Amino acid sequence: MSAGLLARAGFDVLLLESGGPDNDVLCSGLLNPEAQAALGVSPPAHVLRDPLAPLLQYHDRDNCVRLEYDPRYVNTSRPAFDAWLREEAQAQGVKIHYETRAKRISHDERGISLATSAGELSCRVLLDCTGWRALSRKQSERRPAPAVHAFQGTITADLPPGSMWAIFDSALTDYYAWIVPKGGQRFLLGAGYLQASEVTRDQADNPWGKLTRMLDYLDALGCSVELEDAKPLGSPITTPTDMRQLWWGERGVVPVGEASGMVSPSSGDGISFCLQGGISIAQTLTQFRSELSSPVSEDLHRRILRRYLAGMAPALSELRFNILKARTAADPLWRNAAVRLLPLFLRRPVQHLDWAAGHARSA
Ligand SMILES: Cc1cc2nc3c(=O)[nH]c(=O)nc-3n(C[C@H](O)[C@H](O)[C@H](O)COP(=O)(O)OP(=O)(O)OC[C@H]3O[C@@H](n4cnc5c(N)ncnc54)[C@H](O)[C@@H]3O)c2cc1C
Repeated sequence: MSAGLLARAGFDVLLLESGGPDNDVLCSGLLNPEAQAALGVSPPAHVLRDPLAPLLQYHDRDNCVRLEYDPRYVNTSRPAFDAWLREEAQAQGVKIHYETRAKRISHDERGISLATSAGELSCRVLLDCTGWRALSRKQSERRPAPAVHAFQGTITADLPPGSMWAIFDSALTDYYAWIVPKGGQRFLLGAGYLQASEVTRDQADNPWGKLTRMLDYLDALGCSVELEDAKPLGSPITTPTDMRQLWWGERGVVPVGEASGMVSPSSGDGISFCLQGGISIAQTLTQFRSELSSPVSEDLHRRILRRYLAGMAPALSELRFNILKARTAADPLWRNAAVRLLPLFLRRPVQHLDWAAGHARSA
């Protein structure tokens, strides 16, 4: 998105992607209201998935609480969404090199030099959009950002069509587990775990073992489930616990999105932050264009950063609040107290569902 805006502003923009045109980032493909607002347009029909705007059922197994509300998400296919954004960027003049991995960033008298799997490149500004891999951070002296390890696979289940669940169960995970509908009886089933958690170890013989407690829960609810994938796929989700863990690069290398550490640690939503960051950095660089004819000094980097972060002020306050929410949700007692404030926070109705009735099918 930032690439398209920059190309329209007259910059030469080259996007490197280590995957191919059908690259698939592990994700549930839900666009929160902030992501929808940043996009400004609705994605085309082939990107959208049914049900378009699923209701969310909140299951708190520690406190036996079940709620339902409209989270105002839009349901998409993540690979189709990314491919659409890249096509839009190309139409606006961005060049894309697929199967090209950025390997090492260095600085020389011309500016920034980037070693890639297809040779050396040089540029004045490098936007690090490498997601949780956070290339520039890895090369710096900063500690890696905290992350949970998420696993997600596709199931077919006789759940009511459109079921989207967030399941909190401290016996399963300190994070949460989810079910996301992807049309008909197909669902994504996933959970996040503290890194190196027992649940995720030694599972070569039974890769779905990480999600056993979730599968048992569905079984207890009387649902029959078929596993569509041979195994759930895994990937870190960055989960900042403090705003000081965010990383903002140096001398013309500017991290955007998850590479900067911006992902909600309470929900795992990260798409909105990379879209909002993309818009802000594109506007910032456009403003500083005349100063970019020479390599970016430390002083110029600081000024670029100030403007970039000012443009992201609403996103940064949201992330601050998400950090607080994640702390609250991790403790069953606090979570149960805080959930009572949900209608006030959402400013829309939240329906209380009967816990026992939800489990009646298993009786
Ligand atoms: C299981 C799971 C479910 C999630 N569900 C949601 C959701 O429903 N909604 C939501 O908002 N967020 C969700 N997230 C979080 C979200 O996927 C990320 O926060 C978001 O994708 C971050 O976007 P990004 O552009 O910063 O990085 P990414 O989307 O990770 O993109 C990085 C891109 O850079 C490429 N790349 C990486 N390294 C290199 C390199 N060295 N050289 C060249 N290319 C490179 C990768 O191939 C990739 O295409 C989920 C995450 C997980 C793990």
